[in-house]
Amino acid sequence: MAKIINVIKGTKDILPQDVEQWHKLEKNALEVFTKYGYKEIRTPIFEATELFARGVGDTTDIVNKEMYTFEKSDRSLTLRPENTAGVVRSFIENGMARLSAPVKLWYKGPMFRYERPQAGRQRQFHQVGVEMFGIKEPAADAEVILLAVNYLKSLGLNDLEVEINSLGCPGCREEYKKKIKEVLKPEFDNLCEDCQNRYEKNPLRLLDCKVDSCKAIFEKPEIQKVIHSDFICEECAQHYKDLKSYLNDLNVNYVENKLLVRGLDYYNRTVFEIKSNNLGSQNAVCGGGRYDSLVRNLGGDDTPAVGWAMGMERLNSLLPAVEPKKLDAYIVSNNSSEAFKLAEELRAQGFNVEFDLANKKFTKQLEKASKCARFALILGEDEINADKVSVKNLSTSEQVTVDRKETGAKL
Ligand code: ATP
Ligand code: MG
Repeated sequence: MAKIINVIKGTKDILPQDVEQWHKLEKNALEVFTKYGYKEIRTPIFEATELFARGVGDTTDIVNKEMYTFEKSDRSLTLRPENTAGVVRSFIENGMARLSAPVKLWYKGPMFRYERPQAGRQRQFHQVGVEMFGIKEPAADAEVILLAVNYLKSLGLNDLEVEINSLGCPGCREEYKKKIKEVLKPEFDNLCEDCQNRYEKNPLRLLDCKVDSCKAIFEKPEIQKVIHSDFICEECAQHYKDLKSYLNDLNVNYVENKLLVRGLDYYNRTVFEIKSNNLGSQNAVCGGGRYDSLVRNLGGDDTPAVGWAMGMERLNSLLPAVEPKKLDAYIVSNNSSEAFKLAEELRAQGFNVEFDLANKKFTKQLEKASKCARFALILGEDEINADKVSVKNLSTSEQVTVDRKETGAKL
């Protein structure tokens, strides 16, 4: 026998019995996002490597360790690890800055990161996300957070925790970075290797470290004092205050987390995550924030922006299994050509219909019908001769014989 080829580590098939949950995630995304004025955008799955190096940031784990990069015709290409950079590229390239603000876009699809596969972490996974361009006011931040919460509610997920923080603007953040570096300097040798590497280039990222020995260091009072100091400038403070007041007015529950900095380089002011207590250690379902400098950094005009992405596998693991849908009808007949005709008539009317293509025994066909359909449509010799169909309701076992053209009305 030929050797079996297996699925690649860190990737998964989405099998027919699981796909209805995915349809639900996608259907609700379209419905809820459309209510808020978002239009779907579909960008390519691979892009120039430089887009992510510049767009995600070369001090991030994503760019340093996690990208699937390959060469083709002397060009370096990368499978997208996230989709904000791709959407921003498209926004610039297609002149969307000329459209009246805000430009609201959403996407869904596969992302690729070379990470250690574990529960809640795959190498090919899926995200659904939104990006809003053109509005710097905190009402935009509030609307995208509200949108995330309402999308989750539409899926029946009401009890997730929204965490928010403000990273300030590049101006006030510089000062904060300096202070963090200063207070952590005596601890440098005790930090993990990743934190030591980030210390110079991206000191805020240290606060996000999941290593226990680093977490313990950040608990020290002198370090806590810096973390909890009000470092942000007046304008950023007002932006953050207004955001919180919108969220209060909208009854969006949130907690403030001063350690929330997010992995990506491009965020400023608002950052947020939505977490579930039912997900184990990979507990974040949604991450997002404001990224006012990204459009300019990727060559466009200065355009404020805010958005988020959710992990669809993690969402799925929080949802109850969806019952597979049954067929409307299964035709039981030993006359395949008549069964074909009836099936096509009913399909044209919008019903989901199958019949036995292998001409098995009547009893076998009835067994199959009772497993997979709501109704059995019996088309024996008598029925065919009289242009009738016997319609059997498979949950009540009630059976009626009707004119063939009335069949649809009975389903
Ligand atoms: P994490 O802290 O879980 O690594 P992240 O900060 O890297 O998340 P983002 O880049 O913000 O994640 O992506 C948004 C969401 O996408 C995450 O909250 C998570 O639900 C999902 N996600 C990210 N990486 C993976 C992965 N490797 N496998 C499955 N889902 C993922
Ligand atoms: Mg990650």
